[in-house]
Amino acid sequence: MNIRYEYTTHFKPKPTGPVAFGTYMTDYMFLMNYETGKGWYDPRIVPYGPFQIDPACTVLHYAQEIFEGMKAYRDPNGDIRLFRPEENFKRMNRSCDRMCIPQVNVDDCVEAVKALVKLEQDWVPREKDTSLYIRPFIFATDNHIGVHASHTYLFAIILCPVGSYYPEGLAPVKIMIEEEDVRAVRGGTGFTKCGGNYAASLRAGDRAEKQGYSQVLWLDGVERKYIEEVGAMNVFFKISGQIVTPALSGSILPGITRMSCLELLRSWGYPVSERRLSVDELVSAARDGSLEEAFGSGTAAVVSPIGELSFHGEHFTVNGGKIGPVTQKLYDELTGIQWGRREDPFGWSVKI
Ligand SMILES: *Cc1c(COP(=O)(O)O)cnc(C)c1O
Repeated sequence: MNIRYEYTTHFKPKPTGPVAFGTYMTDYMFLMNYETGKGWYDPRIVPYGPFQIDPACTVLHYAQEIFEGMKAYRDPNGDIRLFRPEENFKRMNRSCDRMCIPQVNVDDCVEAVKALVKLEQDWVPREKDTSLYIRPFIFATDNHIGVHASHTYLFAIILCPVGSYYPEGLAPVKIMIEEEDVRAVRGGTGFTKCGGNYAASLRAGDRAEKQGYSQVLWLDGVERKYIEEVGAMNVFFKISGQIVTPALSGSILPGITRMSCLELLRSWGYPVSERRLSVDELVSAARDGSLEEAFGSGTAAVVSPIGELSFHGEHFTVNGGKIGPVTQKLYDELTGIQWGRREDPFGWSVKI
């Protein structure tokens, strides 16, 4: 791929202290266009700035849009690393397929990320547990309001520095099991990273937050009986020594952190199962004390211990509200590999 560069002379000051997630973008972005018959064309790195969008633009009406989320990490030698970047673009292609968006070339996209991050390398922060968040996305750009897949698209990558997810240490969170709204159904778009899934999840998230919970735990959309995932994270439980995570059913997002946790746990010899887990089974395990640990997994938080679950107005404390040993071990190993502090036997960490 031949990336064209357009340079700027107006550089933003780099933040000197912690910034709120997703609020402070870097100086450049990567763009490329798509047109039916022509394919993806004009890959370019240009100064960060607003898009001009026609009011009839497809994405504004029918939400034909998908995205990805990944990070660049600075290792102890000052080099910059990505974590399993091909997996993000393989997943992006599965999202594309479901949303009638033309697929991308995985190698070209990884190359685009590397080129952009390399140009913006001074934006990769150096403080402990900080990183540069990478947001690739694609949206439909046809200018008509007929209900059809667009013939034109824009692919973009933007970057923003992010602080430590746990400035005060790994604190377990309170989670509310959602009984009214559902996030996704099998046959729908739950397995894709599309903006529409998030729009549908905002109301439950807001309500949970107002009641003092950090996120909701989603149940399946058909029987409202089986555990799916938590907020924007996959979820794991340790029940009577067994580690359980809901099997990918079509309505669950296949997280790269989820996949990495499973591979690590299996390599350590823990008994792991991907299966259906009903809320009744979870609640009775919480009640009789066989629920030993619970945590969410995702790029932003890596792993996030769950200290309290609420269901039907009942509250259950997990592991005395403290992080469990398996959760801690996964956190240490994954962050160790991501930031290049630990050996990487799987070859997951990719230097730029
Ligand atoms: C992105 C995302 C995840 C986590 O995926 P990772 O690849 O681990 O970051 C989980 N659930 C939802 C709904 C997501 O959008």
